[in-house]
Amino acid sequence: MDFNLPEDLRQYLEELDEFIEREIRPLEQAGDNIRFFDHRREDARTDWDRGGLPSRDWEALLAEARRRADAAGHYRYAFPKAYGGRDGTNLGMAVIREHLARKGLGLHCDLQNEHAIVGNNVALLLMLHYGSASQKAEWVDDLAAGLRGFAFGITEPQHGSDATFMETRAARDGGDWVINGEKTWNTGVHTASHDLIFARTSGTPGSGDGITAFLVPVDAAGFRVEEYLWTFNMPTDHGHISLADVRVPDAAIFGGEGRGLGVVQHFFNENRIRQAASSLGAAQFCIDRSVQYAKTRTPFGKPLASNQAIQFPLVELQTQCEMLRALIHKTAWGMDQFGPFSQSDKQMRRVAGYMFGYMKQQAPKGVTESPVTGG
Ligand SMILES: Cc1cc2nc3c(=O)[nH]c(=O)nc-3n(C[C@H](O)[C@H](O)[C@H](O)COP(=O)(O)OP(=O)(O)OC[C@H]3O[C@@H](n4cnc5c(N)ncnc54)[C@H](O)[C@@H]3O)c2cc1C
Repeated sequence: MDFNLPEDLRQYLEELDEFIEREIRPLEQAGDNIRFFDHRREDARTDWDRGGLPSRDWEALLAEARRRADAAGHYRYAFPKAYGGRDGTNLGMAVIREHLARKGLGLHCDLQNEHAIVGNNVALLLMLHYGSASQKAEWVDDLAAGLRGFAFGITEPQHGSDATFMETRAARDGGDWVINGEKTWNTGVHTASHDLIFARTSGTPGSGDGITAFLVPVDAAGFRVEEYLWTFNMPTDHGHISLADVRVPDAAIFGGEGRGLGVVQHFFNENRIRQAASSLGAAQFCIDRSVQYAKTRTPFGKPLASNQAIQFPLVELQTQCEMLRALIHKTAWGMDQFGPFSQSDKQMRRVAGYMFGYMKQQAPKGVTESPVTGG
């Protein structure tokens, strides 16, 4: 058994670090761009005149970072060489996502909206696996370059974990489908040209078969954004939408009639391993900062780090990070070896979320989430 990271991956992390220092950090520091990362960030990122959606300046800055990363050959790391990628692996993505998040908040990686210079471009992944020839022709280039995306509509106001009980229905009408229902938490629907809507087209509530995914244009008659949800007293880009007799052609079906649940599960499996890795990176960042602080802060004339009551929780946290890292690497490796449907992500996702929340509670007072912001 060899716990060392593959040499090519280690070298790639160095290449990414050099790229960040050369092309991303200067952009982050240019003008007053740092307002998107320091104590003013919530206000700078929020367009209060548009109901609190992300501000256009903020999203333009993220787009420029993506453009630079794509031009340098990093943004599409996870995708096949035929699409401009590097044939990246799930293990590679997990290691990279942790590495980027461990650096703290910045233009290289922002966990609030999953922006990163190495794209977690799940829409492209799904398009390559499930798109029809005409859908691929329309979408692949834009998705690969991060120029356009579609939102994802599985969750409903009354159905989240129990998504197979969804009430949204689609019925055939001639060569078209007519969709009725509601979806919520549709992230990024404010900039998406389409929403990938999951609707029951056959089968009984609770059945895994009979759910169909449709690529629905957001400007279709009857498609309406009812509201954008607020979380932690701040507005978001997670939309609650309704569909009233929305008509789409048969060609809007994505991944086959009645086979939508497989599309959802593929999305979750690939997305959650990366989110878990990012959470681990954020947790490790907090530990690194805590250790640093404990060594330099000297109440009563001696470093905090000399007290066992400070040492013990930090050691415990680092141990938990190591355990989580092993679980993430093994799961990602398993996905690479045996396919994206071979591993359960549920436990890992929960552990990762728990780890970050717990980490922040355990950190000694004065230890901040970000070196820039103190947030
Ligand atoms: C920031 C954010 C972004 C999101 N983006 C999207 C998106 O883009 N598109 C989209 O479609 N959805 C999105 N979601 C929705 C997300 O997928 C759902 O929140 C998730 O599926 C859980 O559903 P729920 O919130 O309705 O919780 P519920 O299903 O109501 O569950 C509530 C709690 O009960 C627990 N629970 C449920 N059933 C059981 C059980 N049988 N046994 C024990 N415990 C149980 C759950 O684990 C959870 O803790 C987003 C959510 C958030 C918070």
